[in-house]
Amino acid sequence: MNSFDLTGKVAIVTGSNTGLGAGMAVALAMAGCDIVGVSRADAGNTPAHVEATGRRFADVRADLASIAPVDDIVRAAVEAFGRVDVLVNNAGIIRRKDALDFGEDDWDAIMDVNLKSVFFLSQAVARQFVKQASGGKIINVASMLSFQGGIRVASYTASKSGVLGLTRLLANEWAAQGINVNAIAPGYMATANTAALRGNAQRNDEIVGRIPAGRWGTPADIAGPVVFLASSASDYVHGHTLAVDGGWLAR
Ligand code: NAP
Repeated sequence: MNSFDLTGKVAIVTGSNTGLGAGMAVALAMAGCDIVGVSRADAGNTPAHVEATGRRFADVRADLASIAPVDDIVRAAVEAFGRVDVLVNNAGIIRRKDALDFGEDDWDAIMDVNLKSVFFLSQAVARQFVKQASGGKIINVASMLSFQGGIRVASYTASKSGVLGLTRLLANEWAAQGINVNAIAPGYMATANTAALRGNAQRNDEIVGRIPAGRWGTPADIAGPVVFLASSASDYVHGHTLAVDGGWLAR
């Protein structure tokens, strides 16, 4: 099983302070990565959890509402650990409002974090991969709303559908340079992002009732998939969006 071993690799994870990003940062550390954790305000418990695995954690603060910090993130990673091997574009936001009332501010805020920064940080990291002549792995975080329409989340659906398309485009452009670009599409996962849904008893029951696995997912459910996509086990996987959804899309 050595092809899943990430010993000596360096992974940048955005939104690593909580939720799925924290789970993926710790999973990658358990597989052997040093972690460059990008968080906006507070690194949370992630540094301690990463260091408990015996790996190093570099704490980088950046607000991905603009693309201004992308080059600094790569520079900080190289200064801390000398190289970059993996990027997980996890940071993301959601806002719920009827389409008839959806405003430009909400539209722009979501597209900026969920799509624009994903592209420009991927570009900055891919330039580093090319400089290193090393290849590398980029893992985007998509959604069920990369495949379905949803309701009351116009810009989120647009952004996550865009992430799926961008994943394919970047995979096509960079595959020949040994850069794998893939995405994970989490199903309904119990994090802050879905607190409003889980707090609404009717929506909660509708959602759980439709998930074949019969439960919300957890950050631990994407540990294996993210290690797979970060490792040489996935070297011939390009442009794929892997649903980790308890069977939601199969229904
Ligand atoms: P979460 O707990 O709300 O975490 C979101 C992360 O993104 C936090 O670390 C947050 O930082 C960070 N972030 C938001 N805006 C940022 C900004 N401007 N600059 C830097 N970081 C920013 O939600 P989650 O469920 O773990 O979501 C992680 C990813 O999974 C998102 O892309 C989300 O769309 C996607 N996803 C989630 C689900 C689900 O069911 N939970 C399903 C499909 C896809 P702060 O803590 O500072 O806000």
